Amino acid sequence: MKCYKHNKLDAVATCNNCGKGLCNECSDEFQPISCQRCALQNNETFKSGLMVQLIVPIVIFISIFVFSLVFMFSALKSLDDSIGPLSYLLFFIGVLINSYAIATVPFGWRFLNKLTPDVFLFLPIAGWLFYFGVKFAISLSLGWIIAPFAVWRIKKDLKSINLTKQDVLMGRGVI
Ligand SMILES: [Zn+2]
Ligand SMILES: [Zn+2]
Repeated sequence: MKCYKHNKLDAVATCNNCGKGLCNECSDEFQPISCQRCALQNNETFKSGLMVQLIVPIVIFISIFVFSLVFMFSALKSLDDSIGPLSYLLFFIGVLINSYAIATVPFGWRFLNKLTPDVFLFLPIAGWLFYFGVKFAISLSLGWIIAPFAVWRIKKDLKSINLTKQDVLMGRGVI
């Protein structure tokens, strides 16, 4: 078998995904061993997953933030006219922190998924509710700390995906 790209060179490996032949140089280009097309395709799928990880918390944050502001402000106003600007400021900060805490639950949840072994439990419904309740509580207490690191990591991954794509499209690193 010859290399799919360099048809004069013998293949020393095959693409893990589509089985195309790869020469010595092409087999070194990606890890896991892959042809360019499959590597780019795989990266695009991975990229959409990362985008979802970013967008979902943003949507949760905005929804809770807007809802809390509208709902609680009207409640506060109808309560007492003597509420001063300081109370409003404290309330606003509270809403901000609360929205951030809930929006970052998915980061904590994913972190726990990585820690817990991949076993499927057979539990009664009450057991599942308890399991998810506890998991949610731990995610809530960890998520806000993990979120900045996770976002930094996601941005880094997105950057290297884009760089890889540019490299491949520009034909760099290829004979
Ligand atoms: Zn392939
Ligand atoms: Zn090659």
